[in-house]
Amino acid sequence: QAKARGRNGYRFYAPSMTGEGVERLRLETFLRRSLEKEEMFLNFQPQVEIDTGRLIGVEALVRWNHPELGLVPPIRFIPLAEDTGFINQLGQWVLSEACRQMVRWQDAGLHVPKMAVNLSAKQFDRGSIVSMVADILRETGLEPQRLQLEVTESVIMNTGDALAFINDLHSIGVGLAIDDFGTGYSSLAYLKQMPVQTLKIDRSFIKDISTDANDEAIAIAIIQLGKSMNLSVIAEGVETEEQAAFLLRHGCNLAQGYFYSKPVMPADLLEHWMPMLKLS
Ligand code: C2E
Ligand code: MG
Ligand code: MG
Ligand code: MG
Repeated sequence: QAKARGRNGYRFYAPSMTGEGVERLRLETFLRRSLEKEEMFLNFQPQVEIDTGRLIGVEALVRWNHPELGLVPPIRFIPLAEDTGFINQLGQWVLSEACRQMVRWQDAGLHVPKMAVNLSAKQFDRGSIVSMVADILRETGLEPQRLQLEVTESVIMNTGDALAFINDLHSIGVGLAIDDFGTGYSSLAYLKQMPVQTLKIDRSFIKDISTDANDEAIAIAIIQLGKSMNLSVIAEGVETEEQAAFLLRHGCNLAQGYFYSKPVMPADLLEHWMPMLKLS
C-alpha cells in the first residue's frame, strides 16, 4: 500500500486515508470486544527509592493482546478508546483489576505500598468518575491511601469540573499524581490549588539529562518546584545508572524506568522484589 504511494503524496492522499480509515474501523471493532474476550491484562512497573532501591509502589499499565493483531501498544489503542468513549469501560476495568491485584498481594502477605493507575482526561468528562473510584474501592476493599491516580496536566487545565472532581477524589482519600509533568502547561497558580501529592517528571526530560543543558535545567526546575510545594517528585523513564545518580544528586530520590524494571506480570514482580515485599 505504501509502495503504491507515488512521489506525489497529494494524489494518493485519499486512498491512503481510506486505508487508514478501514484500519481504524477494524481496530475499533476489535477494541470494543476486547474486554468481554478477556484480551486485556495489566503489567506493573516498579517505582523505587533511588538511594535504597526500596520499592515504593507500582504503576499499572494496560496491555492488549489480540489473537490476530498481537500485542497492541497503548499509544495505538488508548487514543482510539478515548475517541470512541470505550475508555470509560476500559478505565473502570483497569482500576478494578489494579485494586484487586493489590488486595491479592495483601492477602498473600506481600506489602506493595502503593498502586498508581492512569486516568484519561476523557474519564473526567462524566461526573461519574468519583463514584466509580469510590465503588471500586468499596467493592475490592482496598484502602484509598494505597491508590494513586495519575492524571496529565491537560486534565487539570482543560476540564471544566476537574478541580471539583479532583477535590472529591482527594476527600475520599486517594492520592493524586501529575503524569508527564512539564510536557503540558499547567498554570502554577492552578497547581497550587490542587490536592496533588506527586509530580512525575516526563521521561523526555530524563532521556538526555546529563548531556542536554535544557533538559537538565527543566528537570532541576521541576525538582525544585516539587520541593517548594511540598510534593514528591518521581522521574519517569530512568534507563541508566548515570541518570539515577544525576537525579539523586539534584534532590530527586524517586524513580521509575527500565534501569530498575520494565512493566512486568505480577509473577515476575514477585520473583524480583519478593524479599523486600514480605511483611515481617
Ligand atoms: P505513562 O503513564 O506516562 O506510562 C509510562 C510509559 O513509559 C509506559 O509506556 C512505560 O512502559 C514506559 N516506560 C517506563 N519506563 C521506561 C523507560 O525507562 N524507557 C522508556 N523508553 N519507556 C519507559 P506504555 O505502557 O506503553 O504506556 C504508554 C502510555 O499509555 C502511558 O504513559 C499512559 O499515558 C497510557 N496508558 C497506559 N496504560 C493506561 C491505562 O490503563 N489507562 C490510561 N488512561 N492510559 C494508559
Ligand atoms: Mg502514568
Ligand atoms: Mg508518564
Ligand atoms: Mg503518558
